[in-house]
Amino acid sequence: MQPQQRCQRCGTCCKNGGPILHREDLPLVQKGIFSLQNLVTIRKGEPAFNPFTGKVEPAAQEMIKIAGKGASWECIFYDAAQSACIIHANRPLECRLLQCWDTGGIEAIYGRDCLSRFDLVTGQDPLTAHIRKHQQQCSYAKALPLMEHLSSPTPAKVSMEELTGLMQQDLQLREQAISAFRLSLQQELFYFGRPLFQSLQHPGLRVKMAGSSIRLEWTNPV
Ligand code: SF4
Repeated sequence: MQPQQRCQRCGTCCKNGGPILHREDLPLVQKGIFSLQNLVTIRKGEPAFNPFTGKVEPAAQEMIKIAGKGASWECIFYDAAQSACIIHANRPLECRLLQCWDTGGIEAIYGRDCLSRFDLVTGQDPLTAHIRKHQQQCSYAKALPLMEHLSSPTPAKVSMEELTGLMQQDLQLREQAISAFRLSLQQELFYFGRPLFQSLQHPGLRVKMAGSSIRLEWTNPV
């Protein structure tokens, strides 16, 4: 059998998730090919799937990704009925480089020249101050050590309280911005990334919500 040498439009790559945006993709945003509502932020340190190691790992840097459909990561620009990309002529760099039979091109740019929120939001945007405040108060640099400590054989009660406080603070800052700027869920996911209570997963961690209050329970995973 001949080795595969061209795209067979199976859609697997688009169904597995949209691309990360690079500096070369900035004109696509500026031209309005996609809007901020079509994007989701993966903040530095957020546990994210690395397709080249096949593992969920803390993101080495902030990245902007084309959003998925609802709870699925399938790219919002993938038309499943037609097995086609609806922005094909203007698809981002990673999509142009991706050849599932030879991933060398995309591996060469992985993690390089990635766009961040601050490349897309101007200094005049009133949300910039909210993003910075949220990033300062609710970073993964604060959250990940707490998760690690909870996973240790002797987790301290204080770690659980601190993690609960951090997740609560994350929600409060989002709610303030949502109410002040009437943000949609899609806009929230661009401006603030996924909430900590969703992105920080562990088999032993149970998150219970009552309104906008969070309660955490830690069980020893079997
Ligand atoms: S932008 Fe187009 S080519 Fe790229 S993942 Fe989405 S649907 Fe596929």
